[in-house]
Amino acid sequence: MKKKFKIVLFVLGTLIALVLIIGGYFFYKFNSETKKMHPVATGKIVDNIYAIKDEFVNMYLIKDSNQYIAIDAGKDIDVVASELKKLDINPDMVIAVLLTHTDMDHVAGVPLFKNAKIYISKQEEMMLTGEKQKIPGVSNSLSRKDYIKLDDKQLLKIGKENTFTILTEGHTTGSMCYQVNDKYLFTGDILSIVDGKLGPSVKFFDLDHEMAIKSISKITKLPNVEYIFTAHFGYSNDYKNAVKDWKE
Ligand SMILES: [Zn+2]
Repeated sequence: MKKKFKIVLFVLGTLIALVLIIGGYFFYKFNSETKKMHPVATGKIVDNIYAIKDEFVNMYLIKDSNQYIAIDAGKDIDVVASELKKLDINPDMVIAVLLTHTDMDHVAGVPLFKNAKIYISKQEEMMLTGEKQKIPGVSNSLSRKDYIKLDDKQLLKIGKENTFTILTEGHTTGSMCYQVNDKYLFTGDILSIVDGKLGPSVKFFDLDHEMAIKSISKITKLPNVEYIFTAHFGYSNDYKNAVKDWKE
């Protein structure tokens, strides 16, 4: 009996130690990787494009007359609400949320946008159903179930703005870039920008890092793009220079 008790204790102790080691490693990596990120401050960036900063992530807004189109929705609903207030933007004026993907730091503010249609790529649904998971047993979730599913290379007209979808799988199964009015490209988490140059996405946060790197090639030869906006690494107003030296 005593021996059995010792074995149980040993197994339990090993399991607890493992959980602590894995959890500790995750916590350490999460913090060190997010510290390297450099989103832009909340405010107007250029023309009709606005950024909202939520700690280590940006969401963006495109003004279309007296309404807005959002790209992603931040990581903390209260922060998104207060940052919108600073810009005097009423969340009710947002008519569409184009999600680059469904990781938690991109969808938290979705419930704020009651009048908006929510868009994800068709392939991203696998992240919600649990068919694909970054952490075993943990699926992405989205507060709205009435989302609209987009194809790759689809043209969308929302208000007066034209959006072209470019599927760039890797960070998640259905990571999507949005090219708005030809010259503005929103890339979510598929790449980084460091010193004005394109770089790979953060491996630690990717579902399939090799695939993510391959996907970057899909957005490096777009003839009319001028601005490139990332979710965690700010933006560049010189697309041609940013992509020039990119090699897979
Ligand atoms: Zn992210």
